[in-house]
Amino acid sequence: MHDTKSDHALENSSRRNFMGTAALGTAAMAMAGCASASAQQTVAAAAAPIDTSNLTPDQALAILQEGNAAFLRGEQRSGISNAQRRLELAEGQSPFAAYVTCSDSRVPPELLFGRGLGELFIIRNAGNTVDTVALGSIEYAVGVLGVPLVVVMGHESCGAVKAAVDVVKNNATFPGQIGRMIEPIIPAVLASRENGAIDLDNAVRQNVRRVVSQLRNQTDPLMQEPLAEGRLKVVGAYYDLDTGAVDFFDRG
Ligand SMILES: [Zn+2]
Repeated sequence: MHDTKSDHALENSSRRNFMGTAALGTAAMAMAGCASASAQQTVAAAAAPIDTSNLTPDQALAILQEGNAAFLRGEQRSGISNAQRRLELAEGQSPFAAYVTCSDSRVPPELLFGRGLGELFIIRNAGNTVDTVALGSIEYAVGVLGVPLVVVMGHESCGAVKAAVDVVKNNATFPGQIGRMIEPIIPAVLASRENGAIDLDNAVRQNVRRVVSQLRNQTDPLMQEPLAEGRLKVVGAYYDLDTGAVDFFDRG
């Protein structure tokens, strides 16, 4: 699609960089094909760092989707996290997405999308809710770092949402601060009821929808202006623990 000269001329283009990432993925698949002939060799392909200048929300989302597709194919991909990259990033970060998800050990964003140092600005807590601290972190990513995309991701068998379901169904109580922590999830559980029945997956998705809506409806210009101008998108996602697939089900 590009010759070598135009590749060079366009090296600062984020679109180009994304194409380069995709090409690397193809190369990795070819390498994996060769490797399968030899004995159980693991092939790791380092995806090029994302150039975030002028990256649109949809391009940022496409990078995540492509990374997750590689993860599903079993490619051992990772972003570049070597010493040179570390030193570059010591001068400043420019992540291409802010990512709000659960603290659950099974859902680490860098691994699910094959990305590396300096690429994802991550906010995690049990149940992926957004309180003042989380909101301020997201606002920093949007307003100061200029990320074009915020993802809110829930997941299958989320213990925090399960606990909130237990509160609604059985008036369950929890020790320490756990009860207070899951309070913001309870309205989502209530809203997810269908004919009085509560399905955990529905509750997880409803919780994501509510947090996405909360972020899209922030009145501060810090979030509102880039949203209104199309420079920022907030999307909701669901992660399936069994398949490894991330379903971006609420794209606005
Ligand atoms: Zn969880």
